[in-house]
Amino acid sequence: MCVNTLIKCIEDERVQCIGYSYCEYLGPRHWFQFADDTALVTTSEEDNQALLDVFTKWCRWAGFQVRVNKCSRFGIKHNGKKATQFKPYLKVNNQMIPQVEIHSNIYIHSESFQYLGKQFNYKMDMVVIEQELEYDLLEYLEKINRLPLHPRNKILIITKYVYSKLRWRLSIYRLSQSWVEQHLDDKFISYVKRWLHFHKGANLTHLKLASSKFGVGLQLASDVHRYCKLSIRKILSKSINNDIRCLFNLTKFNNVQTDCLIYNNDNPRSALKQQIENTVVEHLSTLKEQNTIMKHVRQVASPKHITMWDNICRQMPKNIFVFVRRALIHSLPNNSNLCRWGKRDNPLCELCYSNKQTQLHMLSACPVSADEGRYTWRHDSILYTLLHYISQLKEYGFRIYADLDNFDNPNELFHSMRPDIVLIKDDRIFILELTCCFETNSEKSRNLKINKYGDIQNDCKKRFRHWRKIFVEFTTLGLVTKHIDDLYSVFKKQTLIIRE
Ligand SMILES: [Zn+2]
Repeated sequence: MCVNTLIKCIEDERVQCIGYSYCEYLGPRHWFQFADDTALVTTSEEDNQALLDVFTKWCRWAGFQVRVNKCSRFGIKHNGKKATQFKPYLKVNNQMIPQVEIHSNIYIHSESFQYLGKQFNYKMDMVVIEQELEYDLLEYLEKINRLPLHPRNKILIITKYVYSKLRWRLSIYRLSQSWVEQHLDDKFISYVKRWLHFHKGANLTHLKLASSKFGVGLQLASDVHRYCKLSIRKILSKSINNDIRCLFNLTKFNNVQTDCLIYNNDNPRSALKQQIENTVVEHLSTLKEQNTIMKHVRQVASPKHITMWDNICRQMPKNIFVFVRRALIHSLPNNSNLCRWGKRDNPLCELCYSNKQTQLHMLSACPVSADEGRYTWRHDSILYTLLHYISQLKEYGFRIYADLDNFDNPNELFHSMRPDIVLIKDDRIFILELTCCFETNSEKSRNLKINKYGDIQNDCKKRFRHWRKIFVEFTTLGLVTKHIDDLYSVFKKQTLIIRE
Protein backbone atom coordinates (compact mmCIF):
# COMPACT_ATOMS: atom_id res chain seq x y z
CA MET A 1 0.00 0.00 0.00
CA CYS A 2 2.88 2.34 0.88
CA VAL A 3 4.48 1.63 -2.49
CA ASN A 4 1.27 2.42 -4.35
CA THR A 5 0.99 5.69 -2.47
CA LEU A 6 4.58 6.46 -3.32
CA ILE A 7 4.21 5.69 -7.03
CA LYS A 8 1.10 7.86 -7.19
CA CYS A 9 3.04 10.54 -5.39
CA ILE A 10 6.09 10.57 -7.66
CA GLU A 11 3.90 10.76 -10.73
CA ASP A 12 2.71 14.06 -9.40
CA GLU A 13 4.45 17.08 -10.95
CA ARG A 14 4.90 18.76 -7.60
CA VAL A 15 7.20 16.03 -6.28
CA GLN A 16 9.23 15.46 -9.43
CA CYS A 17 11.87 17.70 -7.87
CA ILE A 18 13.12 14.73 -5.80
CA GLY A 19 14.65 13.35 -8.97
CA TYR A 20 12.32 10.73 -10.35
CA SER A 21 11.04 11.22 -13.87
CA TYR A 22 9.27 8.99 -16.31
CA CYS A 23 10.45 8.91 -19.94
CA GLU A 24 8.97 6.78 -22.67
CA TYR A 25 12.30 5.39 -23.81
CA LEU A 26 13.01 3.92 -20.42
CA GLY A 27 12.50 0.17 -20.05
CA PRO A 28 10.10 -1.21 -17.46
CA ARG A 29 11.13 -0.72 -13.86
CA HIS A 30 9.66 -2.99 -11.19
CA TRP A 31 9.69 -2.40 -7.51
CA PHE A 32 8.36 -5.43 -5.66
CA GLN A 33 7.75 -4.77 -2.03
CA PHE A 34 6.45 -7.26 0.50
CA ALA A 35 6.67 -6.08 4.10
CA ASP A 36 10.37 -5.24 4.53
CA ASP A 37 11.56 -7.37 1.60
CA THR A 38 12.29 -5.50 -1.63
CA ALA A 39 13.25 -6.50 -5.15
CA LEU A 40 14.13 -3.92 -7.81
CA VAL A 41 14.04 -5.31 -11.33
CA THR A 42 14.98 -3.23 -14.36
CA THR A 43 16.19 -3.82 -17.91
CA SER A 44 19.42 -1.84 -17.51
CA GLU A 45 22.00 -1.25 -14.86
CA GLU A 46 21.53 2.55 -15.02
CA ASP A 47 17.80 2.26 -14.55
CA ASN A 48 18.33 0.04 -11.57
CA GLN A 49 20.63 2.58 -9.93
CA ALA A 50 18.04 5.33 -10.62
CA LEU A 51 15.27 3.26 -9.03
CA LEU A 52 17.60 2.33 -6.20
CA ASP A 53 18.14 6.02 -5.47
CA VAL A 54 14.39 6.56 -5.25
CA PHE A 55 14.12 3.51 -3.06
CA THR A 56 16.86 4.85 -0.77
CA LYS A 57 15.03 8.16 -0.43
CA TRP A 58 11.77 6.39 0.26
CA CYS A 59 13.42 4.30 2.95
CA ARG A 60 14.77 7.42 4.61
CA TRP A 61 11.30 8.99 4.47
CA ALA A 62 9.59 5.82 5.72
CA GLY A 63 12.10 5.36 8.55
CA PHE A 64 13.56 2.11 7.15
CA GLN A 65 17.24 1.38 7.46
CA VAL A 66 18.86 -0.43 4.53
CA ARG A 67 21.34 -3.06 5.72
CA VAL A 68 23.61 -3.13 2.70
CA ASN A 69 25.48 -6.27 3.80
CA LYS A 70 22.21 -8.19 3.59
CA CYS A 71 21.44 -7.04 0.02
CA SER A 72 22.56 -8.73 -3.20
CA ARG A 73 23.09 -7.51 -6.75
CA PHE A 74 22.52 -9.94 -9.55
CA GLY A 75 22.52 -9.40 -13.33
CA ILE A 76 21.80 -11.35 -16.48
CA LYS A 77 22.55 -9.97 -19.96
CA HIS A 78 22.07 -11.21 -23.49
CA ASN A 79 25.17 -11.83 -25.60
CA GLY A 80 23.60 -12.56 -28.93
CA LYS A 81 21.56 -15.70 -28.29
CA LYS A 82 23.19 -16.64 -25.04
CA ALA A 83 22.38 -15.19 -21.65
CA THR A 84 25.20 -14.76 -19.18
CA GLN A 85 25.41 -13.68 -15.59
CA PHE A 86 27.25 -10.41 -14.86
CA LYS A 87 27.98 -8.19 -11.89
CA PRO A 88 25.98 -4.96 -12.02
CA TYR A 89 27.54 -1.91 -10.37
CA LEU A 90 25.01 -0.76 -7.76
CA LYS A 91 25.31 1.34 -4.65
CA VAL A 92 23.05 2.23 -1.73
CA ASN A 93 24.04 5.21 0.40
CA ASN A 94 27.45 5.20 -1.32
CA GLN A 95 28.07 1.62 -0.22
CA MET A 96 28.58 -1.10 -2.80
CA ILE A 97 25.97 -3.87 -2.59
CA PRO A 98 27.51 -7.35 -2.20
CA GLN A 99 27.33 -9.30 -5.44
CA VAL A 100 26.18 -12.82 -6.21
CA GLU A 101 29.40 -14.57 -7.30
CA ILE A 102 29.74 -16.04 -10.76
CA HIS A 103 31.41 -19.44 -11.06
CA SER A 104 32.86 -20.31 -14.42
CA ASN A 105 33.63 -23.81 -13.13
CA ILE A 106 30.65 -25.99 -14.00
CA TYR A 107 31.34 -28.27 -11.02
CA ILE A 108 30.74 -25.48 -8.54
CA HIS A 109 27.09 -24.73 -7.87
CA SER A 110 26.08 -21.24 -8.85
CA GLU A 111 25.70 -18.90 -5.91
CA SER A 112 22.18 -17.96 -4.86
CA PHE A 113 20.48 -14.90 -3.50
CA GLN A 114 17.31 -14.89 -1.43
CA TYR A 115 14.06 -13.02 -1.86
CA LEU A 116 10.97 -13.66 0.29
CA GLY A 117 12.61 -16.75 1.72
CA LYS A 118 13.21 -18.33 -1.69
CA GLN A 119 16.63 -18.85 -3.20
CA PHE A 120 17.37 -17.88 -6.80
CA ASN A 121 20.47 -18.52 -8.85
CA TYR A 122 21.55 -18.10 -12.42
CA LYS A 123 20.97 -21.74 -13.42
CA MET A 124 17.71 -21.86 -11.49
CA ASP A 125 18.82 -25.31 -10.30
CA MET A 126 17.77 -27.00 -7.06
CA VAL A 127 21.13 -28.53 -6.12
CA VAL A 128 21.72 -26.36 -3.08
CA ILE A 129 18.14 -26.75 -1.87
CA GLU A 130 18.23 -30.49 -2.39
CA GLN A 131 21.42 -30.77 -0.35
CA GLU A 132 19.92 -28.57 2.34
CA LEU A 133 16.72 -30.66 2.56
CA GLU A 134 18.63 -33.93 2.73
CA TYR A 135 20.96 -32.59 5.37
CA ASP A 136 18.12 -31.17 7.50
CA LEU A 137 16.03 -34.34 7.36
CA LEU A 138 19.02 -36.47 8.27
CA GLU A 139 19.84 -34.24 11.19
CA TYR A 140 16.26 -34.47 12.51
CA LEU A 141 16.22 -38.25 12.05
CA GLU A 142 19.51 -38.63 13.90
CA LYS A 143 18.28 -36.46 16.76
CA ILE A 144 14.97 -38.37 17.04
CA ASN A 145 16.82 -41.66 16.78
CA ARG A 146 18.79 -40.81 19.92
CA LEU A 147 15.67 -39.99 21.96
CA PRO A 148 14.45 -42.74 24.32
CA LEU A 149 10.97 -42.76 22.80
CA HIS A 150 8.42 -45.36 21.73
CA PRO A 151 8.78 -46.01 17.94
CA ARG A 152 5.21 -44.87 17.44
CA ASN A 153 6.07 -41.47 18.95
CA LYS A 154 9.22 -41.16 16.87
CA ILE A 155 7.12 -41.58 13.74
CA LEU A 156 4.63 -39.06 15.12
CA ILE A 157 7.37 -36.44 15.63
CA ILE A 158 8.41 -36.81 12.00
CA THR A 159 4.91 -36.46 10.60
CA LYS A 160 3.76 -33.71 12.93
CA TYR A 161 6.92 -31.67 13.50
CA VAL A 162 9.71 -32.41 11.02
CA TYR A 163 7.51 -32.11 7.95
CA SER A 164 6.29 -28.73 9.15
CA LYS A 165 9.94 -27.60 8.92
CA LEU A 166 10.32 -28.95 5.36
CA ARG A 167 6.88 -28.08 3.98
CA TRP A 168 7.77 -24.54 2.90
CA ARG A 169 10.71 -25.72 0.77
CA LEU A 170 8.71 -28.65 -0.61
CA SER A 171 6.06 -26.12 -1.65
CA ILE A 172 8.03 -23.34 -3.30
CA TYR A 173 10.77 -25.23 -5.14
CA ARG A 174 10.21 -27.32 -8.22
CA LEU A 175 11.53 -30.60 -6.86
CA SER A 176 10.77 -33.75 -8.79
CA GLN A 177 8.62 -36.41 -7.12
CA SER A 178 11.22 -39.07 -7.92
CA TRP A 179 13.98 -37.02 -6.27
CA VAL A 180 11.89 -36.71 -3.08
CA GLU A 181 11.18 -40.45 -3.11
CA GLN A 182 14.80 -41.42 -3.66
CA HIS A 183 16.47 -38.99 -1.31
CA LEU A 184 14.01 -38.11 1.44
CA ASP A 185 11.65 -41.11 1.60
CA ASP A 186 14.49 -43.61 1.53
CA LYS A 187 16.21 -41.97 4.48
CA PHE A 188 13.02 -41.88 6.56
CA ILE A 189 12.13 -45.47 5.66
CA SER A 190 15.53 -46.74 6.72
CA TYR A 191 15.09 -45.15 10.15
CA VAL A 192 11.51 -46.42 10.58
CA LYS A 193 12.77 -49.90 9.77
CA ARG A 194 15.46 -49.50 12.38
CA TRP A 195 12.93 -48.32 15.01
CA LEU A 196 10.53 -51.19 14.29
CA HIS A 197 13.33 -53.75 13.86
CA PHE A 198 12.02 -54.60 10.39
CA HIS A 199 14.34 -56.49 8.10
CA LYS A 200 15.63 -54.89 4.90
CA GLY A 201 12.98 -56.31 2.57
CA ALA A 202 10.07 -55.72 4.96
CA ASN A 203 7.01 -53.94 3.67
CA LEU A 204 6.31 -50.55 5.20
CA THR A 205 3.56 -49.24 2.97
CA HIS A 206 0.74 -50.60 5.16
CA LEU A 207 1.90 -48.21 7.91
CA LYS A 208 0.59 -45.37 5.73
CA LEU A 209 -2.99 -46.56 6.25
CA ALA A 210 -5.30 -45.54 9.07
CA SER A 211 -5.11 -47.49 12.34
CA SER A 212 -8.38 -49.27 11.45
CA LYS A 213 -6.47 -50.84 8.54
CA PHE A 214 -3.29 -51.73 10.45
CA GLY A 215 -1.51 -48.47 9.61
CA VAL A 216 0.03 -45.94 11.96
CA GLY A 217 -0.72 -42.88 9.83
CA LEU A 218 2.85 -42.80 8.52
CA GLN A 219 3.40 -40.08 5.94
CA LEU A 220 6.36 -40.08 3.60
CA ALA A 221 8.03 -36.89 2.38
CA SER A 222 6.82 -37.68 -1.15
CA ASP A 223 3.21 -37.67 0.13
CA VAL A 224 3.77 -34.31 1.83
CA HIS A 225 5.31 -33.04 -1.41
CA ARG A 226 2.19 -34.05 -3.33
CA TYR A 227 -0.07 -32.25 -0.84
CA CYS A 228 2.14 -29.14 -1.06
CA LYS A 229 2.03 -29.14 -4.86
CA LEU A 230 -1.74 -29.56 -4.76
CA SER A 231 -2.14 -26.59 -2.40
CA ILE A 232 0.03 -24.35 -4.59
CA ARG A 233 -1.84 -25.31 -7.77
CA LYS A 234 -5.17 -24.80 -6.04
CA ILE A 235 -4.18 -21.34 -4.81
CA LEU A 236 -3.03 -20.37 -8.33
CA SER A 237 -6.19 -21.69 -9.99
CA LYS A 238 -8.53 -19.95 -7.56
CA SER A 239 -6.68 -16.62 -7.49
CA ILE A 240 -8.73 -13.45 -8.05
CA ASN A 241 -5.72 -12.01 -9.85
CA ASN A 242 -5.90 -12.51 -13.60
CA ASP A 243 -2.11 -12.72 -14.00
CA ILE A 244 -1.85 -15.47 -11.41
CA ARG A 245 -4.56 -17.51 -13.15
CA CYS A 246 -2.64 -16.93 -16.39
CA LEU A 247 0.45 -18.34 -14.71
CA PHE A 248 -1.62 -21.37 -13.67
CA ASN A 249 -2.71 -21.95 -17.28
CA LEU A 250 0.80 -21.50 -18.66
CA THR A 251 2.21 -24.13 -16.30
CA LYS A 252 -0.54 -26.72 -16.51
CA PHE A 253 1.37 -28.97 -18.92
CA ASN A 254 3.92 -29.69 -16.21
CA ASN A 255 1.25 -30.42 -13.60
CA VAL A 256 -1.28 -32.60 -15.38
CA GLN A 257 -1.78 -35.12 -12.55
CA THR A 258 -2.16 -32.50 -9.82
CA ASP A 259 -4.46 -30.33 -11.93
CA CYS A 260 -6.69 -33.33 -12.74
CA LEU A 261 -7.37 -33.67 -9.02
CA ILE A 262 -8.39 -30.01 -8.86
CA TYR A 263 -10.63 -30.17 -11.94
CA ASN A 264 -12.35 -33.46 -11.13
CA ASN A 265 -12.98 -33.20 -7.41
CA ASP A 266 -14.85 -30.89 -5.09
CA ASN A 267 -12.36 -31.74 -2.39
CA PRO A 268 -9.00 -32.38 -4.11
CA ARG A 269 -7.20 -32.97 -0.80
CA SER A 270 -9.38 -35.90 0.20
CA ALA A 271 -9.19 -37.18 -3.39
CA LEU A 272 -5.39 -37.17 -3.12
CA LYS A 273 -5.62 -38.95 0.23
CA GLN A 274 -7.78 -41.61 -1.42
CA GLN A 275 -5.34 -41.88 -4.32
CA ILE A 276 -2.41 -42.45 -1.95
CA GLU A 277 -4.43 -45.08 -0.05
CA ASN A 278 -5.39 -46.86 -3.26
CA THR A 279 -1.73 -47.07 -4.27
CA VAL A 280 -0.94 -48.67 -0.89
CA VAL A 281 -3.79 -51.18 -1.20
CA GLU A 282 -2.68 -52.01 -4.74
CA HIS A 283 0.87 -52.55 -3.56
CA LEU A 284 -0.26 -54.73 -0.67
CA SER A 285 -2.22 -56.96 -3.03
CA THR A 286 1.06 -57.80 -4.80
CA LEU A 287 2.62 -59.06 -1.57
CA LYS A 288 2.27 -62.75 -0.98
CA GLU A 289 3.23 -63.50 2.59
CA GLN A 290 3.56 -60.10 4.26
CA ASN A 291 -0.08 -59.25 3.60
CA THR A 292 -1.71 -62.59 4.53
CA ILE A 293 -2.45 -61.81 8.18
CA MET A 294 -3.66 -58.27 7.54
CA LYS A 295 -5.79 -59.35 4.60
CA HIS A 296 -7.46 -62.14 6.56
CA VAL A 297 -8.04 -60.11 9.70
CA ARG A 298 -9.55 -57.24 7.72
CA GLN A 299 -12.18 -59.74 6.55
CA VAL A 300 -13.00 -61.27 9.93
CA ALA A 301 -12.58 -58.28 12.26
CA SER A 302 -14.34 -54.95 12.18
CA PRO A 303 -12.36 -51.69 11.68
CA LYS A 304 -13.56 -50.60 15.13
CA HIS A 305 -11.91 -53.62 16.76
CA ILE A 306 -8.68 -53.21 14.77
CA THR A 307 -8.47 -49.58 15.95
CA MET A 308 -9.04 -50.70 19.55
CA TRP A 309 -6.31 -53.31 19.15
CA ASP A 310 -3.95 -50.66 17.78
CA ASN A 311 -4.70 -48.35 20.72
CA ILE A 312 -3.77 -51.11 23.13
CA CYS A 313 -0.62 -52.00 21.16
CA ARG A 314 0.69 -48.45 21.24
CA GLN A 315 0.39 -48.42 25.03
CA MET A 316 2.46 -51.59 25.24
CA PRO A 317 6.18 -51.46 26.04
CA LYS A 318 8.45 -50.91 23.05
CA ASN A 319 9.53 -54.56 22.75
CA ILE A 320 5.96 -55.90 22.66
CA PHE A 321 4.87 -53.25 20.20
CA VAL A 322 7.79 -54.10 17.91
CA PHE A 323 7.09 -57.85 18.26
CA VAL A 324 3.45 -57.43 17.26
CA ARG A 325 4.28 -55.12 14.36
CA ARG A 326 6.86 -57.56 13.04
CA ALA A 327 4.54 -60.54 13.50
CA LEU A 328 1.80 -58.76 11.57
CA ILE A 329 3.89 -58.93 8.40
CA HIS A 330 5.47 -62.34 9.13
CA SER A 331 8.79 -60.71 9.85
CA LEU A 332 9.70 -62.23 13.24
CA PRO A 333 13.21 -63.62 13.57
CA ASN A 334 12.00 -67.21 13.87
CA ASN A 335 14.26 -69.95 12.57
CA SER A 336 12.54 -70.36 9.23
CA ASN A 337 12.77 -66.59 8.56
CA LEU A 338 16.39 -66.48 9.73
CA CYS A 339 17.15 -69.30 7.27
CA ARG A 340 15.49 -67.36 4.50
CA TRP A 341 17.48 -64.25 5.36
CA GLY A 342 20.70 -66.28 5.27
CA LYS A 343 21.42 -65.87 8.98
CA ARG A 344 20.97 -69.52 9.93
CA ASP A 345 21.15 -72.98 8.39
CA ASN A 346 18.58 -74.93 10.36
CA PRO A 347 14.90 -73.88 10.24
CA LEU A 348 13.72 -76.49 12.80
CA CYS A 349 11.95 -75.57 16.04
CA GLU A 350 14.36 -75.86 18.96
CA LEU A 351 11.64 -77.09 21.32
CA CYS A 352 10.20 -80.00 19.39
CA TYR A 353 12.75 -80.55 16.58
CA SER A 354 9.91 -82.00 14.54
CA ASN A 355 8.75 -79.03 12.50
CA LYS A 356 10.00 -75.85 10.88
CA GLN A 357 9.85 -72.98 13.34
CA THR A 358 7.38 -70.77 11.47
CA GLN A 359 5.29 -68.06 13.12
CA LEU A 360 2.24 -70.34 13.09
CA HIS A 361 4.23 -73.17 14.66
CA MET A 362 5.70 -70.92 17.37
CA LEU A 363 2.49 -69.20 18.37
CA SER A 364 -0.08 -71.98 18.08
CA ALA A 365 1.15 -75.35 16.87
CA CYS A 366 4.29 -76.45 18.71
CA PRO A 367 3.53 -79.73 20.56
CA VAL A 368 6.09 -78.96 23.29
CA SER A 369 4.57 -75.54 23.96
CA ALA A 370 1.13 -77.21 24.04
CA ASP A 371 2.34 -79.88 26.51
CA GLU A 372 3.93 -77.26 28.72
CA GLY A 373 0.54 -75.52 28.90
CA ARG A 374 1.64 -72.26 27.25
CA TYR A 375 -1.36 -72.14 24.93
CA THR A 376 -3.73 -73.14 27.75
CA TRP A 377 -2.32 -70.36 29.92
CA ARG A 378 -2.98 -67.87 27.12
CA HIS A 379 -6.52 -69.21 26.59
CA ASP A 380 -7.33 -69.10 30.32
CA SER A 381 -5.87 -65.60 30.72
CA ILE A 382 -8.31 -64.30 28.13
CA LEU A 383 -11.11 -66.26 29.77
CA TYR A 384 -10.37 -64.64 33.15
CA THR A 385 -10.47 -61.20 31.51
CA LEU A 386 -13.82 -62.00 29.87
CA LEU A 387 -15.19 -63.30 33.17
CA HIS A 388 -14.14 -60.12 34.90
CA TYR A 389 -16.79 -58.34 32.79
CA ILE A 390 -19.31 -61.16 32.54
CA SER A 391 -19.38 -61.50 36.37
CA GLN A 392 -21.42 -58.30 36.45
CA LEU A 393 -24.36 -60.46 35.30
CA LYS A 394 -24.46 -62.02 38.77
CA GLU A 395 -26.13 -58.80 39.93
CA TYR A 396 -28.90 -59.54 37.42
CA GLY A 397 -29.57 -63.01 38.82
CA PHE A 398 -27.31 -65.04 36.54
CA ARG A 399 -25.37 -68.00 37.75
CA ILE A 400 -21.94 -68.32 36.18
CA TYR A 401 -20.07 -71.55 35.46
CA ALA A 402 -16.54 -71.52 34.03
CA ASP A 403 -13.97 -74.17 33.26
CA LEU A 404 -11.46 -72.45 35.58
CA ASP A 405 -10.40 -72.61 39.22
CA ASN A 406 -12.53 -70.58 41.67
CA PHE A 407 -15.65 -70.96 39.51
CA ASP A 408 -18.50 -73.48 39.47
CA ASN A 409 -17.52 -76.06 36.87
CA PRO A 410 -19.72 -76.72 33.82
CA ASN A 411 -19.40 -80.47 34.51
CA GLU A 412 -22.24 -79.93 37.03
CA LEU A 413 -24.47 -79.30 34.00
CA PHE A 414 -23.10 -81.54 31.27
CA HIS A 415 -22.23 -85.21 30.99
CA SER A 416 -19.13 -84.99 28.82
CA MET A 417 -18.83 -81.52 27.26
CA ARG A 418 -16.94 -78.67 28.91
CA PRO A 419 -17.83 -75.31 27.37
CA ASP A 420 -15.64 -72.44 28.63
CA ILE A 421 -18.38 -70.36 30.21
CA VAL A 422 -22.04 -71.14 30.96
CA LEU A 423 -24.57 -68.56 32.15
CA ILE A 424 -27.90 -69.62 33.57
CA LYS A 425 -30.98 -67.72 34.60
CA ASP A 426 -34.38 -69.42 35.06
CA ASP A 427 -35.00 -71.40 31.86
CA ARG A 428 -32.33 -69.58 29.83
CA ILE A 429 -28.84 -70.90 29.20
CA PHE A 430 -25.94 -69.17 27.44
CA ILE A 431 -22.89 -71.13 26.31
CA LEU A 432 -19.71 -69.21 25.55
CA GLU A 433 -16.81 -70.92 23.85
CA LEU A 434 -13.51 -69.11 23.40
CA THR A 435 -10.98 -70.00 20.71
CA CYS A 436 -7.40 -68.75 20.60
CA CYS A 437 -6.10 -69.36 17.13
CA PHE A 438 -3.59 -68.23 14.58
CA GLU A 439 -4.79 -65.15 12.64
CA THR A 440 -5.44 -66.93 9.37
CA ASN A 441 -7.23 -69.86 11.04
CA SER A 442 -9.99 -67.96 12.80
CA GLU A 443 -12.89 -69.11 10.61
CA LYS A 444 -11.67 -72.70 10.41
CA SER A 445 -11.35 -72.93 14.20
CA ARG A 446 -14.74 -71.31 14.66
CA ASN A 447 -16.45 -73.82 12.39
CA LEU A 448 -14.81 -76.69 14.28
CA LYS A 449 -16.20 -75.34 17.54
CA ILE A 450 -19.67 -74.81 16.06
CA ASN A 451 -19.72 -78.44 14.92
CA LYS A 452 -18.40 -79.68 18.24
CA TYR A 453 -21.12 -77.95 20.25
CA GLY A 454 -23.83 -78.52 17.64
CA ASP A 455 -25.95 -80.85 19.79
CA ILE A 456 -24.77 -79.89 23.24
CA GLN A 457 -28.45 -79.80 24.28
CA ASN A 458 -28.48 -83.61 24.32
CA ASP A 459 -25.47 -83.69 26.64
CA CYS A 460 -27.13 -81.44 29.23
CA LYS A 461 -28.25 -82.86 32.59
CA LYS A 462 -31.07 -80.31 32.95
CA ARG A 463 -33.73 -78.93 30.61
CA PHE A 464 -33.67 -75.35 29.42
CA ARG A 465 -36.18 -73.65 27.11
CA HIS A 466 -33.92 -70.98 25.64
CA TRP A 467 -30.47 -71.87 24.35
CA ARG A 468 -27.93 -69.42 23.01
CA LYS A 469 -24.44 -70.40 21.89
CA ILE A 470 -21.77 -67.74 21.50
CA PHE A 471 -18.42 -68.43 19.86
CA VAL A 472 -15.68 -65.84 20.14
CA GLU A 473 -12.20 -65.94 18.64
CA PHE A 474 -9.05 -64.18 19.80
CA THR A 475 -6.00 -64.47 17.62
CA THR A 476 -2.43 -65.06 18.75
CA LEU A 477 -1.59 -61.36 18.31
CA GLY A 478 -4.56 -60.31 20.43
CA LEU A 479 -6.97 -59.41 17.65
CA VAL A 480 -10.61 -60.25 18.08
CA THR A 481 -13.03 -61.24 15.33
CA LYS A 482 -16.33 -59.44 14.74
CA HIS A 483 -18.21 -62.31 16.46
CA ILE A 484 -17.34 -60.70 19.79
CA ASP A 485 -20.32 -58.46 19.00
CA ASP A 486 -22.59 -61.48 19.70
CA LEU A 487 -21.32 -61.45 23.25
CA TYR A 488 -21.74 -57.67 23.53
CA SER A 489 -25.31 -57.83 22.29
CA VAL A 490 -26.28 -60.64 24.68
CA PHE A 491 -24.67 -58.80 27.56
CA LYS A 492 -26.39 -55.55 26.66
CA LYS A 493 -29.77 -57.20 26.09
CA GLN A 494 -29.76 -59.15 29.35
CA THR A 495 -28.74 -56.18 31.48
CA LEU A 496 -31.34 -53.99 29.72
CA ILE A 497 -34.21 -56.50 30.04
CA ILE A 498 -33.57 -56.84 33.71
CA ARG A 499 -33.24 -53.10 34.32
CA GLU A 500 -36.62 -52.58 32.66
ZN1 LIG B 1 8.04 -76.84 18.03
